[in-house]
Amino acid sequence: MEFFDVIVVGGGHAGCEAALASARMGAKTLMVTISVDKIGTMSCNPAIGGTAKGHLVKEIDALGGEMGRAIDKTGIQYRILNRKKGPAIWSSRAQADMDLYRRYMKHTLENTPNLHLRQDTVEGLLIEKGDNGERDVIFGVEGKLFGRIRGGKVIITTGTFLNGLIHVGSEKISAGRAGDAPSIGLAEFIRNYGMRVGRLKTGTTPRLDARSIDWSVTEVQHSDEDIIPFSFRTEKIEQPLLPCYITNTNEQTHDTIRKYLSESPLYSGTIKGIGPRYCPSIEDKVVKFPDRISHQIFLEPQGYDTCEVYPNGISTSLPLKCQLEFVRTIKGLEKAEIIRPGYAIEYDFVDPTELGASLETKKVSGLYLAGQINGTTGYEEAAAQGLLAGINANLAAANKPALVLKRSDAYIGVMIDDLVTKGTSEPYRVFTSRAEHRLYLREDNADLRLTELGYSIGLVDRSDYDRFLSRKAALAGAMQFVKDTPIGSFDLPESLTYEKDNIGTKLEAVIKRPEVDIMALADRVPDLKLLSPNVLRRVAVELKYEGYIAREMRTIKAADQLEHIKIPTTFPYDDLPGLSREVIEKLKKFRPENLGQAGRISGITPAALQIVRIYLAR
Ligand code: FAD
Repeated sequence: MEFFDVIVVGGGHAGCEAALASARMGAKTLMVTISVDKIGTMSCNPAIGGTAKGHLVKEIDALGGEMGRAIDKTGIQYRILNRKKGPAIWSSRAQADMDLYRRYMKHTLENTPNLHLRQDTVEGLLIEKGDNGERDVIFGVEGKLFGRIRGGKVIITTGTFLNGLIHVGSEKISAGRAGDAPSIGLAEFIRNYGMRVGRLKTGTTPRLDARSIDWSVTEVQHSDEDIIPFSFRTEKIEQPLLPCYITNTNEQTHDTIRKYLSESPLYSGTIKGIGPRYCPSIEDKVVKFPDRISHQIFLEPQGYDTCEVYPNGISTSLPLKCQLEFVRTIKGLEKAEIIRPGYAIEYDFVDPTELGASLETKKVSGLYLAGQINGTTGYEEAAAQGLLAGINANLAAANKPALVLKRSDAYIGVMIDDLVTKGTSEPYRVFTSRAEHRLYLREDNADLRLTELGYSIGLVDRSDYDRFLSRKAALAGAMQFVKDTPIGSFDLPESLTYEKDNIGTKLEAVIKRPEVDIMALADRVPDLKLLSPNVLRRVAVELKYEGYIAREMRTIKAADQLEHIKIPTTFPYDDLPGLSREVIEKLKKFRPENLGQAGRISGITPAALQIVRIYLAR
């Protein structure tokens, strides 16, 4: 029987990053997926990035992942969100040509050495029982057609497919997403094996025919002019860009939705799974915000060569005739035709507290879970987990220690830590507010935070690493220059200088002022003008936030001390006098890997933590 070091089940966003990372790091890797034509499919919105999600994409890229490059090759509109707020929470978002994105990913996988593809549905896992209290061990997967395939490590990334059930009004269709078969056998296997499994729900909008929309009455929105690519490895976005358009719901729309509410499976009680709080359906918006007379809708083209339009903001599971009726109350959509109905989908997910921080399951050695199966929602969250699972499966196959990103390293670290220490009862998405070190965890410095690490594990290649070192040197040189150079050498206008400035005042002091735009300063300082806008932007952010970042670094250092105090998996919590029964139960359920993680489990008090610490010290 053929043997693979790592088998990845699923070809969605988690699966693609997992398989690429594992193969690029040298493991003989197999991706088994239900349909190879659907590799890299965007199941819902045709966009990558967004608030905090943009940060994840930059981090994936900095570590050597693919998502940033994929969207840079296939993006059709680029914007930075939250521009009016501080640069720490500026987030990149790009709309994609969905078809090109999918083809780019498949092509990349097909051209990666060590990476093999099989089209099949995995129905079960090959698991050997552990002896004498040892953990069970994975040794492969059972495919419907290919049969048993042996593998040292297995990563499951099955998204919304486990026991997937689509709802459109009272219609119910067993499916992984519209047009795809669900994964029933594997779902049953996971439940029967004894993993804690729950049920979640998400939904999508109807897709409209562009030819039936009156674009003249909508508001046009173009890309930003100063586009910053997602990938640190992309020099420039070359392809033509497209605008999107804005319209709004109105009172008539809301009345129509209210009229049909009892026919929505969300409100008739048919759907039991919990939906994403921050991505509500239009039914939810109308019910939960009764005072709002209008909701914005972005009409996003799904690509260059298609007439399908994604109306972002009206996800629904109402019956099709009701969808058509409410859509046609919206300005510009009076004659709209629906190509694909909106729908809701319920699916199984595995309680992520079943996992350790490496994304390996606690029950089965060598089995990793990544993506929507862990209770998250979103392509970026899935891709980030896939990347880490791929890296860690590869490292484990080579008997190397796992890569665990701390909350102070990356949003990826924040997300995984939240999942494995707290679990989730609703679809989890990242937010900037989830990160306690927001000023440090910025999009612009993701390479400084992570590329060294990506190179050290063999994921970032030599030429990309060399380019990173040049960027780092340019940044350091620019910093030194502005710290050393007095303003006296330049003819600066009054708008850039203060009364108390003298010729010895350094450029640094000018840049630090909140109102000073470094681009305007560069127009007067030839040495700065020579630097790329990217380097200038980064110098400005570093200097303006220098004091705050220094304070944040001190907090990070203190918090890191607890992360370094490891707790053995066999730690005898029952024997510790002074711990309440509730605390003991929680610690035994979560089995935290270190004191830092233990402290973040809800209900673990500082006093309890201190008792564990004293016992560990003994
Ligand atoms: P997926 O992209 O779902 O990929 C799963 C892969 O696993 C597929 O390739 C599938 O073929 C394969 N697979 C499944 N079972 C098996 C098996 N047994 N054997 C082999 N292969 C298997 N995200 C948002 O951020 N906002 C939203 O509003 C939103 N709405 C959504 C609405 C709908 C209807 C759907 C379906 C998804 C929505 N999403 C939304 C979620 C988004 O699509 C997912 O977060 C993302 O695709 C998850 O990536 P993944 O890699 O975990 O899984």
